[in-house]
Amino acid sequence: MKVLMTAVVLAVSAGFLTAAQSLDLARSTIVDLSHAYGPSTVFWPTSPTKFELERLAFGRTEAGYFYAANTLSTPEHGGTHLDAPIHFAEGGQTTEQIPLERLIAPAVVIDVAERAAADRDYRATRDDVLRFEKVHGTIARGTIVLLRTGWSRHWPDAKAYLGDDTPGDASKLSFPSFGADAARLLVEERSVAALGVDTASIDYGRSTDFQVHRIAAARNVPGLENLTNLDRLPPRGALVIALPMKIEGGSGGPLRAVALVPK
Ligand SMILES: [Zn+2]
Repeated sequence: MKVLMTAVVLAVSAGFLTAAQSLDLARSTIVDLSHAYGPSTVFWPTSPTKFELERLAFGRTEAGYFYAANTLSTPEHGGTHLDAPIHFAEGGQTTEQIPLERLIAPAVVIDVAERAAADRDYRATRDDVLRFEKVHGTIARGTIVLLRTGWSRHWPDAKAYLGDDTPGDASKLSFPSFGADAARLLVEERSVAALGVDTASIDYGRSTDFQVHRIAAARNVPGLENLTNLDRLPPRGALVIALPMKIEGGSGGPLRAVALVPK
């Protein structure tokens, strides 16, 4: 385990990892930031299909041993998933082209759960970021910035989580996320590695112009959506490993994200 961790530290040490964030696996708690994919996985209401798992084999074979296998199909953007820059920027990176340095990096967690509880259309502001920095220090280049709204408590109740679950209609969605001014500060001034959130989108639910997606994609900053367990991470000090299925030409994809948190 220690050998493996050394490899991870080496891989991400290209200027991003501070000494405090060199983690020893034996002294870390591993937190799962992904929801499981299944029949109740939440998708955008306009998604033509959802996650499907079809059984190909399950049981004892004629030769006497047990064998199980399935086939799966899923839209890229549903459940815990990655948004590749191409999702909102022509010529942006596709899923397999995203540098690993953007997906394995130190993370900070900006907590707006209280504000989101009072206003489900809350958008994190530039001031929220600056307030965080006043306490925890300036967000370093190459950091994965996670926004905690507390919304994963609604998962997988699509109506509570998205604000509306009318099939084929995305016009009445309502949930919190990043605001454009916060995104500009993080992406353009702080040069963060990625933006992640525990709601369905890095833009709030009522958005019709997807400004945060466009600001991030324009700088090849990927998005991590429908994350969970952000309440188990410290404001800073965790290392996030967010590796999507490596889809060639993908605009995103299913994502298994974990965090290593110092004990
Ligand atoms: Zn997406």
